[in-house]
Amino acid sequence: MTSMDLDRWTRVKDRLRAEVGDDVYASWFARMELDGSEGDTVKLSVPTRFLKSWIQSHYAERVLACWQAEQPTFSRVELTVRSAVIRTLAPKIKQPECSSPQREMREIKLNGDGRHTVGPISAAHDALGGSPLDPRLTFETFVIGRSNTLAHAAAKQVAQGRRGDMVMFNPLYIHAGVGLGKTHLLQSLAWAGNASAERKVLYLTAEKFMYGFVAALRAQNALAFKEALRTIDVLVIDDLQFLQGRSTQAEFCHTLNALIDAGRQVVIAADRPPSDLESLDERVRSRLAGGLVVEMGSLGEELRFEILKCRAAAAKQHHPGFDVPMPVLEFIAKTVTHNGRDLEGALNRLLAHSKLTGQPVTLEMAEREVRDLIRPQDPKRVKIEDIQRVVARQYNVSRADLLSSRRTANVVRPRQVAMYLAKTLTLRSLPEIGRRFGGRDHTTVLHAVRKIENLVNTDSALADEIDLLKRQLQE
Ligand code: ADP
Ligand code: MG
Repeated sequence: MTSMDLDRWTRVKDRLRAEVGDDVYASWFARMELDGSEGDTVKLSVPTRFLKSWIQSHYAERVLACWQAEQPTFSRVELTVRSAVIRTLAPKIKQPECSSPQREMREIKLNGDGRHTVGPISAAHDALGGSPLDPRLTFETFVIGRSNTLAHAAAKQVAQGRRGDMVMFNPLYIHAGVGLGKTHLLQSLAWAGNASAERKVLYLTAEKFMYGFVAALRAQNALAFKEALRTIDVLVIDDLQFLQGRSTQAEFCHTLNALIDAGRQVVIAADRPPSDLESLDERVRSRLAGGLVVEMGSLGEELRFEILKCRAAAAKQHHPGFDVPMPVLEFIAKTVTHNGRDLEGALNRLLAHSKLTGQPVTLEMAEREVRDLIRPQDPKRVKIEDIQRVVARQYNVSRADLLSSRRTANVVRPRQVAMYLAKTLTLRSLPEIGRRFGGRDHTTVLHAVRKIENLVNTDSALADEIDLLKRQLQE
């Protein structure tokens, strides 16, 4: 490959990014590489089959068009998987869709050919000793945002697979901090995967795996337990970081290998990446890392808002009087921490409060009820111009007066206050502040700051005034 090829490739990537946006680009194209070109064909590669099939079915033309813009002689893009373990010859791959909740619901119904009902799902699941599934944790209620697009698409793909389909990435390993939707996503997968009654998806917490296994050993039917596990098509294990004990781990390792080698799908969630599961054997860790490892980031404000909207709407179905005004949802989304559980907690408190008091939900009530869930705000960045403007208004002088060399008392005090605020509310240095106040010397600024510091200790009216100014500036 020449450096010209590489330059061209960089420009193609820029084009692509500009067309699809940063988020989409980061999700699907960040790991795409140029392998070379031959005649009219440009050769690209990605690390997983999943990315390949996704890009092929959703972005093939886009990618080609971006290339053609740089090199009109190209008429074909060949996309391959770098160093992938290929288990079966690639049959036709079914594509999942990132869809809105409504579309998703329809899609699942269609996929199930109307055959599925909730009853048989849980019966099959329970018979295998699966952990209980929460009916609220489904794809319909899972809100997609920038932090979970890839994890969601991968889970969806697994859920929609059919018996005998090629397994595209194995295991699928999803990791994220507490309350960021791992369990929700895995249970959605289990519900949807079992909906077709064609495959068995077993959802187990690591604890359940441990206790199931230990119990089976005690009952001397470990074999039966293993056999039962091996009859399932998709094994989903949640909270793998809790897997403990040497014999359990050895069994986990066997089960994992047996399932993967048999072409069964394994899906795992944990609170850390495979490499950080210190208690696990190195070989298990590398096996875990060998499939698709996806991280879900923290819930951004937009995603928090969407989750809250869904939650509030769901709560209203059971409690018709429970109306949460949009500004309240916005307030919670803005202030409550990144953790999905706290969002749920915040809404539950509003619900409890409105039920118990019979009062409508207001912003004031929300502020009171969720106070302890509020994350400390990053202090707002205050600008020196704002300080000058607010101080000038407060003391009824002009901004020009503050910057001037006038030394009358009605200008000197406000100027000192403004300098003091500039020092305490911004990270600007004394010389910088001096420059911004009509080119004064830094010693002048220092003098002003000291002066006001001293006065605030003795003059409570001035102290109040300064508090007020600070609040105005930081709001
Ligand atoms: P984890 O298993 O990662 O600790 P959970 O799946 O239990 O987190 O999520 C915590 C809470 O946040 C649950 O109530 C869950 O429904 C909610 N939640 C998290 N992410 C989402 C999302 N993307 N859409 C809807 N709800 C979510
Ligand atoms: Mg969980």
